[in-house]
Amino acid sequence: MSELLRRIKHACLDLDGTLYLGSTCFEWTGGFLRTLQSLGIGRTFVSNNSSRSRIEYVAKLTAFGIECEAEEVWLSTQAMIAWLLHERPDLRRIHVLGTPSLVRELADAGFDVADRLERPDAVLVGFDSTLDYERLCRAATWIAAGCPFLATHMDRVCPNDAPTVLVDCGSICACLTAATGREPDFVAGKPEASMLQPILDRYGLEPSEVLVVGDRVYTDIEMAHRAGTASEPSRCPCRHGRRRPGPRDGSSGRDGQRAGAQRGGERRRRRARCGRRRGRERRRAGAPARGGA
Ligand SMILES: [Mg+2]
Repeated sequence: MSELLRRIKHACLDLDGTLYLGSTCFEWTGGFLRTLQSLGIGRTFVSNNSSRSRIEYVAKLTAFGIECEAEEVWLSTQAMIAWLLHERPDLRRIHVLGTPSLVRELADAGFDVADRLERPDAVLVGFDSTLDYERLCRAATWIAAGCPFLATHMDRVCPNDAPTVLVDCGSICACLTAATGREPDFVAGKPEASMLQPILDRYGLEPSEVLVVGDRVYTDIEMAHRAGTASEPSRCPCRHGRRRPGPRDGSSGRDGQRAGAQRGGERRRRRARCGRRRGRERRRAGAPARGGA
């Protein structure tokens, strides 16, 4: 066992793009989770996606064959609720721009999320896949009037295994910023360390005992950096599940050399494809280009 794994007690695992993509579970996910269990490493599934509740995530993971409890799922919604309760207990009446699941999670935590508040204490924006123009305009009106502007996370698109671009919370916030001239006052999700701190507190963990695994450098890995935990970028899916030609197929000598050259060419092409794909993803997400400011 590596020195890193020897000191790790808990893994915080990103979901979309790391354990699955959209509705497709990666082939290595089950084995990876069993390995963590066999090593006695605890786990929390950590996602910025505030469009679903923890219970809905449990159902999704169970459908993939991953048995888990709601307490093992930590979303930007929970990080936002924890922050509101501890840092801004004065903000109780919230205008929510989010899915019914997000509204229900906030109501269950004791917040007044009535649909037509006279003047809310704050506007909270999530990944609203049920976006409604009238509610969007009301959110902009309250933000322009000076209400605290809160966002569950700032991902601009949600990973997906279909060609559709899923407009995420960061893009909705960008729309509100364009309309009001205000940026969110507080963001709860990755890469903010506040996303991770409640998990450390809950299990009594030191940052050095936690490993963050995720597919996005500027959210998952950046959060690990800010919180001082270890991190591991998840591998690009297109590197997996391909059988390589060469000596392992029974060839040798010049066949092996030729196959080696072919493998090198394939590797270069695969890296280029990965790079282009990640570049597209970074541009969609609005992340700075590599080597940029
Ligand atoms: Mg991800």
